[in-house]
Amino acid sequence: MIYRDINGTRLSAIGMGCMRLPVVGGCDGFIDEEQVRQMVDYALSHGVNYFDTAWGYHAGRSETVVSSCLRRHPRDRYCLATKFPGYNVDNFARKEAIFTEQLERTGVDHFDFYLLHNVIELNIEHYLDMGRDGLVPYLLRQKELGRIDHLGFSCHGELETLIRLMNVWGGHMEFCQIQLNYQDWRFQRADRKVAWLVEQGVPIIAMEPLRGGRLAAFTAQEQARLDALRPGVSPVEWGYRYAQSTPGVAVTLSGMSDLAQCRQNIAVFQAEDPLTAEERRVLEGIAEARLADSVVPCTGCRYCLDQCPSELDIPYLIALYNEFMSRDDEKWLSMLKLDALSEEELPAMCLGCRSCTNVCPQGIDVAGVLDDFIDRLSKTG
Ligand code: SF4
Ligand code: SF4
Repeated sequence: MIYRDINGTRLSAIGMGCMRLPVVGGCDGFIDEEQVRQMVDYALSHGVNYFDTAWGYHAGRSETVVSSCLRRHPRDRYCLATKFPGYNVDNFARKEAIFTEQLERTGVDHFDFYLLHNVIELNIEHYLDMGRDGLVPYLLRQKELGRIDHLGFSCHGELETLIRLMNVWGGHMEFCQIQLNYQDWRFQRADRKVAWLVEQGVPIIAMEPLRGGRLAAFTAQEQARLDALRPGVSPVEWGYRYAQSTPGVAVTLSGMSDLAQCRQNIAVFQAEDPLTAEERRVLEGIAEARLADSVVPCTGCRYCLDQCPSELDIPYLIALYNEFMSRDDEKWLSMLKLDALSEEELPAMCLGCRSCTNVCPQGIDVAGVLDDFIDRLSKTG
């Protein structure tokens, strides 16, 4: 097993993500505990020591089930990570009750790693609260009491939001968890986040290395291109190797759903075998070609901004549209970001004047895209 270090704690380079555990009868809250027990035992016996759960995973059952499986082993064999559910801003007023319940659910006396969950434009002001009643001051007191070893955060927001958090709490944030895979390297601008975090010396935990399974298969043509570089490597291994060999990444999370996946994924982390620059470039090229077929090809050049009488941030709205269109189970992400905008900034403010299209090098029918966005949002509710 490859090991990495976060602030003096030695961690396996693959962590067991506990958001997509096996369930019974297709019911998200009904976890197949026997299978999870086998998966946890297998992971531990093959060197994995990082287990990532959260308050909301599996309708609140993940924390309980995972920790009950882990507690059958010596406490120093595993690191348990969980998160504060700040994606729902109502939870900030209940921080003490939630944290206390998390300790009760898991039956541990401390969390090795504790994260602010999903720092994003919608909740950043709450996370920035420096008052005595603020969440982070509360968590720092828990740290002093020995209930948290390492404090960090996960971020689905833009780099600017991540920087805002770090500008206030950077001295206390020991790591940052971001969505990182070869598709999101440019699409969700993971490249910018990685560059900034590496420059700041903040260790990275990579989540969604296979984008929820979307990167777990290649077309025959894509596989042939990659076989020419490294014969016989599976799409899953390509995805994990990409995250594993990204500079600054300490741990890559793997959301395993059965024992077979557990075996396959952990095997990739038994030895370092970093991708070459050429291999990374080919993977990113494959992702870009896929995206070009399915999303609006805005390059973010910003030539249109001066033209818009409604002063809309057109490339940002198109990026949200692309995010909305790219994956069914990720629509919530772009909707949360839209929620953080004022009324004047929303797609509905588009007047349909086409001034933007007239200057757009890609010839994008922005008004049509925004219209379609409004239509789809109303159907999504
Ligand atoms: S079409 Fe809409 S987005 Fe484009 S310039 Fe006019 S108002 Fe702005
Ligand atoms: S001009 Fe076109 S490509 Fe450039 S940011 Fe505007 S919409 Fe995107």
